[in-house]
Amino acid sequence: MDLFVTFLGTAASVPTAGRSTSATLISRGGVRWLVDCGEGAQRQLLRSGIGLIDLDAIFLTHLHADHYLGLPGLLKSYTLREREAPLGVFGPPGLEQLLRTLRPLIGRLSFDLEIAEASAGLLLEESGSRVEAFPTAHSIPSIGIALVEATRPGEFDVDAACGLGVPEGPLFGRLQRGEMVTTPAGDTVAPAQVLGPARPSRSVVLSGDTLPCEMTANAARGATLLVHEATFLDEDRERAAETQHSTAGQAAELAAEAGVGLLALTHLSSRVSPRDAEQEAAARFSAVVVPRDFEQLELPYPERGEPILTDLRARSRREPVPPEGAATVPDE
Ligand SMILES: [Zn+2]
Ligand SMILES: [Zn+2]
Repeated sequence: MDLFVTFLGTAASVPTAGRSTSATLISRGGVRWLVDCGEGAQRQLLRSGIGLIDLDAIFLTHLHADHYLGLPGLLKSYTLREREAPLGVFGPPGLEQLLRTLRPLIGRLSFDLEIAEASAGLLLEESGSRVEAFPTAHSIPSIGIALVEATRPGEFDVDAACGLGVPEGPLFGRLQRGEMVTTPAGDTVAPAQVLGPARPSRSVVLSGDTLPCEMTANAARGATLLVHEATFLDEDRERAAETQHSTAGQAAELAAEAGVGLLALTHLSSRVSPRDAEQEAAARFSAVVVPRDFEQLELPYPERGEPILTDLRARSRREPVPPEGAATVPDE
């Protein structure tokens, strides 16, 4: 199953000419989730070439304006085109109050908003994956988001199955699902006889705004990808502590401690150069990227290769075919 993480907004607090405020799209199979919805998130979707897709859920890591101001416009657009499917919006305590406050701006919606507040725990389950919240350490109630896939069964050994007298057909499927089967000759065959060792699954963890904290490290233990904020550099460590943010160096230390596969730094202050952030982090954890807006990470299953970082706009310039899951073609 494909898994993409698309960076639609990578700036902290205020947009810059090149970076929009927080919004990250996770696409897995046909399911699309948005983590944070900063100002202009819907336009970022359009500009990326992905188009204004019907999201399946939105997760807000906390209720600072740079993480939710894009929500009223997005909901309004969905209503203008008569969306009917309900939309789940998840966030920390205070979310319901915020949406009540925004309601006069948003007006009537053509679909149900299913609002759920959570500080920790399971948010939803979807085709072999779970989305969980974990508490983080910011100046207001805040959560991080973890997408965790279920472990995949091992590779099915067709030769072994045939050798044990299992005929090709439905019995193969039952073995693959972990069931014992009986062959036409009356022998019992167990899944372990024909399946290799369980294969590692993937996980993506997004810190949201936070100090470097144990909760993120625990959630990110062994993750395929950790998307961590890096609002500051180490030279502004004190300011980071005051405002309850992290530095690029601290994010890298946490990534090293958690043993993640790849660290992506986001939520950069306009005063931080991406190159400086990357250098500072790489000194402590080498598997680091600092994505720009419209860059997308593809996360293949571990046995199929390394993550691939693509600039969606460069790709759409080369080939006019929109990326997978696109609903409309880019308008620029
Ligand atoms: Zn922020
Ligand atoms: Zn914040």
